[in-house]
Amino acid sequence: MSDTIGIEDIGRMIRSAADKIRANRDGLSKLDSAIGDGDHGTTIARAMTIAEKHIEESDKKDLKGLLKDVGWGVMGVDGGATGPLLGSFLMGLSNGIGEENEIDSSSVAAMFEAGLAGVRRQSKAQVGDKTMMDALLPAIDAIRQSIDAGKSIKQALQNAAEAAEKGAVSTKEFKARFGRARNLGDRTIGFQDPGATSIALIFDGFYEGVQ
Ligand code: ADP
Ligand code: MG
Repeated sequence: MSDTIGIEDIGRMIRSAADKIRANRDGLSKLDSAIGDGDHGTTIARAMTIAEKHIEESDKKDLKGLLKDVGWGVMGVDGGATGPLLGSFLMGLSNGIGEENEIDSSSVAAMFEAGLAGVRRQSKAQVGDKTMMDALLPAIDAIRQSIDAGKSIKQALQNAAEAAEKGAVSTKEFKARFGRARNLGDRTIGFQDPGATSIALIFDGFYEGVQ
């Protein structure tokens, strides 16, 4: 049995991620109120709605071109750190694939690693710095490990969603070393990072999108 996902699946993954984010918008802003300026839910909801709009309205018929459009759109979302970081992730995804519109599991792993490389060009944050990297790095690791172990794309995405959620929860213990929250130093301990929480919701949406 061939295990692949196509342009329609990617569309469903992004739409389902956008739904998750919108459903949690107020909670995400509340998390940001504790250690930032309280706008994260609004900004990430706007970013994901723009991503979805590009999926619906792009004139690109190929997956690579479509992901580039989506990334560019999100990159331009104003309001701080989120637009550039999430935009470079989505834009980066397009660098990991070739011209094909139907991708197999090894291309899926390469696509997500390229997304991470995109974010890496914007952020030097590591696991433990209390940023979205605390969810993103374990999620991408889980995809790579699952695919290398011969698991299905669906299983890899489920493992990624679980790893991202665990990573997001772990941020409660950390002190912020990047972004706005950094100014609060030790006072950020005990609060979950909003950006990492968003990444966990997005990966949960990606997984649900392939059901
Ligand atoms: P802002 O802090 O500009 O108001 P948001 O509130 O939308 O932006 O997003 C805050 C989130 O952005 C943080 O919770 C954190 O996860 C993420 N973030 C901020 N700076 C960085 C960075 N340098 N690297 C990775 N993630 C970051
Ligand atoms: Mg903020």
